[in-house]
Amino acid sequence: MKLFAYALREYDELGYLDACAREMGFEYGWTSEYPNLDNVGLARGYDALCIITNPMPADLLDAFHEEGIKNLATRTIGYEHIDVAHAYKLGMRVANAPYPPEGVANYAIMLLLMAQRKVKLLSRQSLAQDFGLHGKLGKDISTSTVGVIGTGRIGATVVRHLAGFGCRLLAYDPYPNPEVAKLATYVDLDTLYAESDAITLHAPGLPENRHMIDAAAFSKMKRGVTIVNAARGMLIDTQALVGAVESGQVGAAALDTIEHEEDLYYLDRSRDVLPNRDRSVLMAFPNVIVSPHMAFYTAEDVEAMIRNSASALLAFERGEKTPFEVRH
Ligand code: NAD
Repeated sequence: MKLFAYALREYDELGYLDACAREMGFEYGWTSEYPNLDNVGLARGYDALCIITNPMPADLLDAFHEEGIKNLATRTIGYEHIDVAHAYKLGMRVANAPYPPEGVANYAIMLLLMAQRKVKLLSRQSLAQDFGLHGKLGKDISTSTVGVIGTGRIGATVVRHLAGFGCRLLAYDPYPNPEVAKLATYVDLDTLYAESDAITLHAPGLPENRHMIDAAAFSKMKRGVTIVNAARGMLIDTQALVGAVESGQVGAAALDTIEHEEDLYYLDRSRDVLPNRDRSVLMAFPNVIVSPHMAFYTAEDVEAMIRNSASALLAFERGEKTPFEVRH
């Protein structure tokens, strides 16, 4: 099989792709460019396409089909950027690349620890040579009640790992998981809001979940609650969060994802005047940590994205089944 990868990062993905190619036995070509109608020709002579989050609409799929591309895999869990139905109409099979939940789950737990131990304030003040203790008293997570909203792959892992810290765990999910129920108590949202010292979000960014954490939700929470969001920015109404931080209702927040992060993350915008005012306000608070959507970014996860997309394309080439195939 000959695989062509678009939008490949030379500094991390290329090494894994090269190692997989030698281990699994396929040839590859690559470019750092995103695929578009002007550069489809780069994939001429290849069998399969490996892409990332760029849109893959019908006309682009048609163009690759004409170049002889037979199958397609995205190096991401989400595949909403691909017109899967159209790909199947063209006879192309499509795969995604799930990666282990531990990296994101552990990052969320790290954010929770950093928020409750005031690491942003400590780092800032250390830089200013303020080594005093005043205002830096933390709260240990082992004595905290932590509410986990969404107990799918990542939320369930968070519950399993937080159980080791000795936290009291509450959970909410419309589809409770019996394994999670062994370690956490499923409750309704109002109970979770009322009893949690910290709340961590692991629900998907579905339209119906937009602003599920709004001013009304904040008002039902414990005063001084810690909020962690390593899921999707749109789950939280940012204006309501800013108000809740200003009033002290939220005592700390740690956000790997925020609203309107598109066009910021993963670009070097250090020389630009940025349009995202919410981010600037959140960044200015001493008790709010904002990280640039990095929870997935571990060696283990990047390797899995490459390995799983390549193995799916190999299975397609051999006419075999693969757990990574997506259907429309
Ligand atoms: P998943 O599909 O395995 O689990 C999601 C769970 O959320 C499901 O159990 C679902 O029933 C539940 N859910 C849906 N709506 C809910 C609601 N309103 N309230 C409570 N629960 C609800 O997904 P996952 O792989 O565990 O991913 C969880 C989130 O993490 C997603 O938003 C995903 O996009 C995000 N994520 C972020 C990063 C990052 O780098 N920050 C990386 C990967 C995934």
